Amino acid sequence: MTLSRRRPVKTPGPVWLFDLDNTLHHASYRIFPAINHGMTQYIMSRLNVDIDEANRLRTGYTQRYGAALVGLMKHHQIDGDDFLRVVHTFADLPSMVRAERGLKRMLHALPGRKIVITNGPSIYAREVMAELGIERMFERVIAIEDMRQGKRWRSKPDPAMLRRAMRQAHVRLRDAILVEDTRGHLKSYRRLGIRTVWIVGHLPVMRTGRPHYVDRTVQSLRALTLGLRGRAL
Ligand SMILES: [Mg+2]
Repeated sequence: MTLSRRRPVKTPGPVWLFDLDNTLHHASYRIFPAINHGMTQYIMSRLNVDIDEANRLRTGYTQRYGAALVGLMKHHQIDGDDFLRVVHTFADLPSMVRAERGLKRMLHALPGRKIVITNGPSIYAREVMAELGIERMFERVIAIEDMRQGKRWRSKPDPAMLRRAMRQAHVRLRDAILVEDTRGHLKSYRRLGIRTVWIVGHLPVMRTGRPHYVDRTVQSLRALTLGLRGRAL
């Protein structure tokens, strides 16, 4: 018998759902510009549109569906696997990854189970996590391929997708805390009863304040872990 997934370890404390990009590492540094460029080029060549239209489609679908891929599949029937592979292939990923100092130590000190949930593809998520040296600290990675339902691609912030993913991971929604930079995902998932942390330090524009669907706003993971000493979220 082959066990495809490790059984969840019974650990006291919450279940942390960490977004990857601009949460566990600073994707806005070099990776996001490269992905955005790759997506725009892909859309221009496959859909035969100019750069302005390609950028409009890319940003519009990302805002509307949470991931450009989902909109491109829905409205233009592109090859999803090919798209993900092409736009997440980098000549030198290690030189593009930048993260908070002491990341590994901070995550280690955080009590509770940890899961990564990302709208990026699995191979990319695992490469970035390996580069950060944190892949063993997470019991599973829920990447965009894992969010598919039948032939239909889904992504954050789809509520049915998260419910199903949490059932599969044996996580009760009331135990989950989502740490994310994208406000729309936090807003959608707060309605399901999970707790939310908005991490703002990686965003290109400085943000402060706490929207009603955010339990805590932090600049960094360091601020989150320091703030948690001795108290609940
Ligand atoms: Mg993110």
